[in-house]
Amino acid sequence: MLADPDRVALSNLPRLAAANRGDALAWLADERRPQWLRRAAMRFARPKVMLGRRNILRANPQARVEAIFGDFLEADIAAKFVDCDYLFLAADTMRARLLFNAVVHQYLIPGVQVGAKVRVDPKSGEVLDAYSVVRPVTSDSGCLLCNRLINSAKLQDESISDAERKRQRYIDEPEIIAPSVITLNAVATSQAANDFLFYITGL
Ligand SMILES: [Zn+2]
Repeated sequence: MLADPDRVALSNLPRLAAANRGDALAWLADERRPQWLRRAAMRFARPKVMLGRRNILRANPQARVEAIFGDFLEADIAAKFVDCDYLFLAADTMRARLLFNAVVHQYLIPGVQVGAKVRVDPKSGEVLDAYSVVRPVTSDSGCLLCNRLINSAKLQDESISDAERKRQRYIDEPEIIAPSVITLNAVATSQAANDFLFYITGL
């Protein structure tokens, strides 16, 4: 089961595995097109969950995939995940971390948070750090709250502002919208998939 509320945009093609320009309706979304056509592209481009579904089915046509085009933070969508055997959190907002952490602990479902980040000095523009993270979270260890990985100030910002909520920041620079973090994401998600396989097989 997959959930994600976003559609493919031209700016995020560099970080979506096996995405193509057709998924972003590139011929409509091109910046030379009038605004209304570009808006139409944003409204009708392929949901990212459908890319995930397509990739899974390419690997295994018999796989059963439930792709939910919506936000895990919606109560009725989160409720669908409480009888899963394992959770992968790849949405990096504080609200998503808080909810994921609560589901792990209340329903005793092991999970893992994955992400990538590029830290840039806002004054000089110098890249300070580029990294990916893989954080296993179970009812025994890795609690995101106890490990101070849920920043209360950011959580408050996200609860107040819709713009802040939607921003999945790889880089804390609003004008950089297309960081090519696909290789960092690949490292993190491969490690998370290995952890999952070892967990599920008991190796
Ligand atoms: Zn805790």
